[in-house]
Amino acid sequence: MSKPDVLMLNAMRPFVEGALSPSFEIHRLWEAPDPNALIAEVGPRIMAITGFGGRIPRELIERLPELKIISTSSVGYDGIDVKAAAEHGVVVTNTPDVLTDEVADLALGLLLATIREIPRAEHHLRSGQWPRGTYPLTTTLRGRKVGIIGLGRIGKAIAQRVAAFDVPVSYYGRHKQAGVSYPYVDSLLGLAKDVDVLICVAPGGAETQRMIGREVFEALGPNGIFINVGRGSVVDEAALVHALRNGTILSAGLDVFENEPHVPAELIALPNAVLLPHVASASDHTRDAMAKLAVDNLLAWAKGEAPLTPVPETPWPPVKAGV
Ligand code: NDP
Repeated sequence: MSKPDVLMLNAMRPFVEGALSPSFEIHRLWEAPDPNALIAEVGPRIMAITGFGGRIPRELIERLPELKIISTSSVGYDGIDVKAAAEHGVVVTNTPDVLTDEVADLALGLLLATIREIPRAEHHLRSGQWPRGTYPLTTTLRGRKVGIIGLGRIGKAIAQRVAAFDVPVSYYGRHKQAGVSYPYVDSLLGLAKDVDVLICVAPGGAETQRMIGREVFEALGPNGIFINVGRGSVVDEAALVHALRNGTILSAGLDVFENEPHVPAELIALPNAVLLPHVASASDHTRDAMAKLAVDNLLAWAKGEAPLTPVPETPWPPVKAGV
């Protein structure tokens, strides 16, 4: 019996192709001299798509009539048109939980780096400035209140770590979370007013598009610190640059940006921003765990079993719209 065809969007962890090849015929889109020509050639046979993130718009889903599963090696799936997938009976799987601790660790690192100006202090030493004078005093985490936007898996892991630093935590999301004792604030502006550190770990997508903008930064105030490990699209980046430049807020630590990998020159020029190139899950250990889960989802499907981690918008077994 022939193996199902999988379209691989980009290079994945080294073990992935070996793990998939007994069960799938692999087509490497990123290696194709003309990706469009490859899709035209193999598109009618493609039953699965995999990759590390990447954009999967409706047009691609609709060019693949036999497509049944999209397995992304990421927990965020805002780049995938899940509505189109659901309409076409395609299950989408992501990689929840296996990256939660890694991302939460990085969020705390970014928070401390921003508050205590760790990158600038290190630059002071490396650039030979220390003998000419000590590094200036910084602001502190002591006495602050932290608000988390999106108290999901990663948000809860961040909250646990922040609480261990003996700092109070409250949160905003669309719903009050069951089983947590942190105070819930039912509006984003309300949370920004209540705290002086805001950590965003909300997903991207139409619903959250630029929901953090001028009003939120004004509510956070001149002593406010903004950290984003969620998605760049959640933030109005021009408003953030303005707020950092004009002292509307004190500083920001960002792992994600609106138009990655392009970061506005205005943001790069600001001394009160710590900027990371979307590395929150980027360790060997965690990227392997994510890739393994992406593979396991595909292998389960190939055996006729339920994929392990379908996203809520495309439950298993799939139901085609109107059926
Ligand atoms: P979860 O789904 O567990 O949590 C998402 C949280 O966001 C939920 O608490 C949800 O609460 C809240 N949320 C969803 N929609 C909205 C909305 N419209 N307004 C306010 N809050 C909202 O996901 P994870 O914690 O596993 O991951 C969260 C996100 O972190 C990912 O989607 C991804 O974008 C980002 N991420 C970034 C990484 C990086 O490298 N920087 C790595 C991994 C993840 P409620 O439903 O109550 O609104």
